[in-house]
Amino acid sequence: MDERILIYEKSVSGRKGYTLPECGKAEGEILAAIPERFRRENDAALPEVSEPEVMRHFVRLSTKNHHIESGFYPLGSCTMKYNPKHNDVAAGLKGFASMHPMTPEACVEGSMQLMWELMQYLGEISGFPGMSLQPVAGAHGEFCGLLIMRAYHDEKGEGRNKIIIPDSAHGTNPASVTSVGYTTVQINSNENGIISPDAVAEVMDNDIAGIMLTNPNTLGLFESNIAEIAQIVHDKGGLLYMDGANLNANMGIFRPGDIGFDIMHFNLHKTFSTPHGGGGPGAGAVGVTEELKKYLPLPLLEKNKSGKLFFDYDRPHSVGRLHSFNGNFANMVRAYAYVRTLGGDGIREVSENAVLNANYLKELVKGDYELPYDVHCMHEFVISGSRQKKLGVRTADISKRLLDFGVHAPTNYFPLIVPEAMMIEPTETETRETLEQFAVIMKQIAKEAETEPETVTSAPHDTPVRRLDETIAARTLDVNYVE
Ligand SMILES: *Cc1c(COP(=O)(O)O)cnc(C)c1O
Repeated sequence: MDERILIYEKSVSGRKGYTLPECGKAEGEILAAIPERFRRENDAALPEVSEPEVMRHFVRLSTKNHHIESGFYPLGSCTMKYNPKHNDVAAGLKGFASMHPMTPEACVEGSMQLMWELMQYLGEISGFPGMSLQPVAGAHGEFCGLLIMRAYHDEKGEGRNKIIIPDSAHGTNPASVTSVGYTTVQINSNENGIISPDAVAEVMDNDIAGIMLTNPNTLGLFESNIAEIAQIVHDKGGLLYMDGANLNANMGIFRPGDIGFDIMHFNLHKTFSTPHGGGGPGAGAVGVTEELKKYLPLPLLEKNKSGKLFFDYDRPHSVGRLHSFNGNFANMVRAYAYVRTLGGDGIREVSENAVLNANYLKELVKGDYELPYDVHCMHEFVISGSRQKKLGVRTADISKRLLDFGVHAPTNYFPLIVPEAMMIEPTETETRETLEQFAVIMKQIAKEAETEPETVTSAPHDTPVRRLDETIAARTLDVNYVE
């Protein structure tokens, strides 16, 4: 048997997936047309394969990883919801997809109108009158928001340089704080998993530029003391930053801008319909209060007195440009299509169903796993595998075992304040049957941990690869065809 059948290599010398017409020119003539420095000395090292083989290769690869198209993906904080395909179709419309970023404004008025309307919708959802669509990731939005905070204090001539961050914060928060040259002051969540005003009051002083909060926080719990916290922070001259990466529990119900937050970023690629994961393009829009609008990135889409949209570059207080052109436009088209399809009532229903699904699932699994905060949750909840750990089965093992059932793992070991954490976010797009099936699988794994723990600790058994060294895979990533 040809060994090639058994191995990865598909290339066969001389095989082609295309035919080109004769060009009718002598080789010398062609060569003369190519400047010497651009001429290739050796053949390019490309695989030589037939068209169907190429197709099969990529389709096969595309199914080796877990993906939302193949199964449940309860990766907490990431909102791996189903993204309606027609929003992708909208983003792929020729007028949008083939638009060159240097096209003069007069020729892209429709796209500017779309951006403008999206800014209004996001403003309506969040309660912030100022909006920039430029940042291209959640972390980028945080960086932008903190630059705005710094510009605000700098203009007042205040040398504030610290930001308060809760112990449950997403890792990007302290990283962004460091990126703008500030330092973090950590405060602890209380026994109910949320921040108490006292904890803020204790550290709030004239060095503090502001506080970064996530609401609902990463435990999936609603921070119910925001108004009081805002009072404390504002009284001492600080600002409130809301990490709005995940708005899936808030939309149509809770507007951060109404309660005292000054700045917020959105992850359009989580809540608003752009598929993500695997490092795809993101969109981290930033909303601010009227007072902070002048600091938003350059240029800012504005409407002049006669109602005409234009990109305003004349903004002396702006923190400047944070990305080339206008960010990731296709994400904006998807977000626009998403909001327009659902409408106000539909958007609210998204949040209601996200919360309902999370609470339903929490009730289904809490008998088999420890639930450190046994209260009503928002769009996600955190359970602990500490009971299973006593039996020699770690949370990482449980997550690997889930792969055998065609389910993606929850977020593991985060937030850091829950030992053996599993952060579960079912999202609003899953059916009741899927949630119930997941609970049955979780129950079986809990049982296996008691009766046959090695089945769990040696998982996964049925995936294309078993346990990889994820650190090496990430650090020495090699996607080249040729060695
Ligand atoms: C995902 C997330 C972020 C970061 O977003 P990126 O687009 O990955 O940079 C920040 N905060 C929270 C709470 C998140 O869930």
